[in-house]
Amino acid sequence: MNDRRPDWAWFDEPLGVGLQLGVQVESVVYRETTEHQDLVIYETSQWGRVMALDGIMQVCERDEFIYHEMMTHVPILAHGNARNICIIGGGDGGILREALRHPVEQVTMVEIDASVVELCTTHLPSISDGAFDDPRTDLVIADGARFIADTEKRFDVIIVDSTDPIGPGEVLFTSEFYGHCKSRLTDGGIVVTQSGVAMIQGDELTTTVRRLGEHFADSSAYIAPVPTYIGGFMALGWGTDNTDLRALPNATLAARYKQADITTRYYNANLHVGAFALPTYIADYVEAAR
Ligand code: SAM
Repeated sequence: MNDRRPDWAWFDEPLGVGLQLGVQVESVVYRETTEHQDLVIYETSQWGRVMALDGIMQVCERDEFIYHEMMTHVPILAHGNARNICIIGGGDGGILREALRHPVEQVTMVEIDASVVELCTTHLPSISDGAFDDPRTDLVIADGARFIADTEKRFDVIIVDSTDPIGPGEVLFTSEFYGHCKSRLTDGGIVVTQSGVAMIQGDELTTTVRRLGEHFADSSAYIAPVPTYIGGFMALGWGTDNTDLRALPNATLAARYKQADITTRYYNANLHVGAFALPTYIADYVEAAR
């Protein structure tokens, strides 16, 4: 806790940018140093429950829908016929919850830290909302980089909902990992990645787009504004060999959204198209990868 406001928890972004996020804490719901990282769940006054790993904000009840909807519905609706999804990371279950809204056959979720799943299911159940009990869920506790290198499975969409490129998440930002993602995707498959807040981690975005570009015909990014990921737009990396998928017309996406018969609080077809219209400073980070 910070001595300025002893009842607040303060979060630095991992790359130390002179910005801190503070949330007023009502109680510490749970804290544990797991096999892989320090996990804490707070009850807060205005943001619901909040989970942090190694002191970095991961998810909060009030605004999680923005990130989870954009990481999930953009690739799945762009693909148009995704039946097998792979989530790397995503221990809180938010991506899994959103992916299961679609008529998928199976969602394979590969999370390195079983404690994150167990503790979020117990103390932050609104995020997964029962998704781990869905018969279409295949939960694998393993390092995502090792899994994707070894699996015989094939996926239409791979969603990399990892921590930042420090600690256990670091291996999920390598060209080798993206190469293995490529080999596990079906024709025209899509991989999307958590690529940090561009104003703070712009160079990381350039590196990710460059590394994706080493394996995919189309590598780029799209954006989403997540209030508790401080510093402005969150960048989400995009990689696919089907160059049409990043520029689908609104009418196509709207029809697919209607057919999927899902309800969302942030995602819609207009926003999907708009999310790829990058502010110049973010487009510059993407172009620097070429
Ligand atoms: N939405 C958050 C963000 O944007 O930072 C990420 C949320 S989720 C909690 C991140 C998950 O990635 C954690 O559960 C963590 O345990 C998992 N993770 C980190 N490294 C991993 C690896 N190598 N393989 C699989 N899961 C990993």
